[in-house]
Amino acid sequence: QHSSPAQTEFYQAVEEVLQSLDPLLEKYDRYHRHAIIERMVEPERQIMFRICWVDDQGQVQVNKGYRVEFSSTLGPYKGGLRFHPSVNGSIIKFLGFEQVFKNALTGLALGGGKGGANFNPKGKSDAEIMRFCQAFMNELYRHIGPTTDVPAGDIGVGSREVGYLFGQYKKLVNRFDGVITGKSLNNGGSQLRTEATGYGCAYFANYMLEDQKSGLDGKRCLVSGAGNVALHTIEKLYQLGAIPVSCSDSSGTLYHADGMDLDCLRQLKSHSDGHLQDYLSEHSKARFIAKKDNPKDGHAIWHLPCELAFPCATQNELTEADAKALLANGCQAVIEGANMPCTSKAVQQIVRAGRLFAPGKAANAGGVATSQLEMAQNASMQRWSADEVDQKLKDIMCGIYTRSHEAAAEFNQPGNLLLGANIAGFRRLADAMIEQGVV
Ligand code: NDP
Repeated sequence: QHSSPAQTEFYQAVEEVLQSLDPLLEKYDRYHRHAIIERMVEPERQIMFRICWVDDQGQVQVNKGYRVEFSSTLGPYKGGLRFHPSVNGSIIKFLGFEQVFKNALTGLALGGGKGGANFNPKGKSDAEIMRFCQAFMNELYRHIGPTTDVPAGDIGVGSREVGYLFGQYKKLVNRFDGVITGKSLNNGGSQLRTEATGYGCAYFANYMLEDQKSGLDGKRCLVSGAGNVALHTIEKLYQLGAIPVSCSDSSGTLYHADGMDLDCLRQLKSHSDGHLQDYLSEHSKARFIAKKDNPKDGHAIWHLPCELAFPCATQNELTEADAKALLANGCQAVIEGANMPCTSKAVQQIVRAGRLFAPGKAANAGGVATSQLEMAQNASMQRWSADEVDQKLKDIMCGIYTRSHEAAAEFNQPGNLLLGANIAGFRRLADAMIEQGVV
């Protein structure tokens, strides 16, 4: 039942999961008796707090901070922190809800949570970013711990922000804990954590296509976003033989039919004032489509020709109209690198057309899985090599694909990875909740 109209994204995420669970709930009565759904949609704890900090002009600024500790059934709360002006309670709650299922699906000992602030890092000086991160941690530190709640990065929170957050936590508690993941190697981070979400996404696509007796080789891929997930997805797609032909950000879409020049893109994005459009000065055959020229109900990027689509920017960036355009252009599969990038209607279009669809909670789980590897290294004071971590990441992505695929087949919808991922995650979580009693 919708009781608050302001939680649009949260209800969207819950509805998508509940629709997939019908076949399981019809078969087994125990989930009803134990009120599992009712318990799962209610976070165990939600924290909202004020963040005050001083900008470079000496002006005091105030932001809203959030940490939603959704479920500790399978392990410590785990999930990223997002710093973006669009952040609100509904977005953090939907991300936390998705995270619970994603983490269950990895097969690892991870609960689920998410947090962040409505802070806009764009245009801020390094000193302002540091002061904001310290002010954020001044409240958050009392709620987190290496076996309680372990945040990580997300949109607007990369290794620089994680470093400042970690430094302030350590100052406040006087302990060197593995309390946040995505740390730099100097600070006890893991090899490949930065790359893991994008790499994992490309590995997942590869497993999915190989199962169809196909593969990534020579496939033209649309990738959206130009941040951590997008750039590492592009990198790994190239390594696996595919041809990524696009990227995007809040200014618009870049399309390069010959294949994106990743070095040039990285160079552009490494400057705080770098613009995607500047790519054209090096590559005259590429095209830039400004955001204002997006079609009315969608986004120009998804109207370009491709065989595979990887939405890697943000929620609801691929609409029903975009999905129709992808299908009309012969797109064979959509693999979600971001969290809930496809609207519900877009997903329906793709699944009904019989095209492959990899939901974010399966395809982008490589990041959180590698965060768990970082936690394991921190707890045992070990350092694993990049090759070791990469092999574990591949195994975890293969396991996620297999669990999703098998659950879909068990409920007579072979190939429906959306249904399979939701059922496999739910079942592991629900059975553990029943075993832990009414708490
Ligand atoms: P980054 O901040 O590194 O990059 C985000 C990218 O998306 C930027 O190019 C940004 O453009 C674009 N973007 C963000 N919001 C909007 C918007 N409202 N409209 C248009 N473009 C937008 O974030 P990540 O790459 O880390 O995260 C991307 C997605 O992947 C998110 O959904 C996140 O939750 C998900 N994810 C991330 C994981 C990780 O390990 N980092 C793990 C699992 C999922 P601009 O710079 O112009 O704003």
